[in-house]
Amino acid sequence: MPSPGGWAPEVPCARCERRVPGLAWGELCRECRAERTRRAAGVARRVALAATTAVGLYVALVTPPVPLIRVYGIVAILATYLLVRQIVHRVAMELLPR
Ligand SMILES: [Zn+2]
Repeated sequence: MPSPGGWAPEVPCARCERRVPGLAWGELCRECRAERTRRAAGVARRVALAATTAVGLYVALVTPPVPLIRVYGIVAILATYLLVRQIVHRVAMELLPR
């Protein structure tokens, strides 16, 4: 069914099949996209915490107790959390089932 203005066709959401004006074919509506983003954030947070724990254990157990090296280790731990969370979130947004 065309929208009242006639310029934006109503396309069904790829997940819930609710018709939304201006949506591209195969895309998710705003609510489905928000729900997918929330699930991806959860997966990303769990994977990032596991990776950060591994790096933290490595820094604590393997690196020598020199202050400068400890500082670099802490920077590496923080960078690991941020990067892994970002990467896993992006991948989960693509790969999570609908
Ligand atoms: Zn939807």
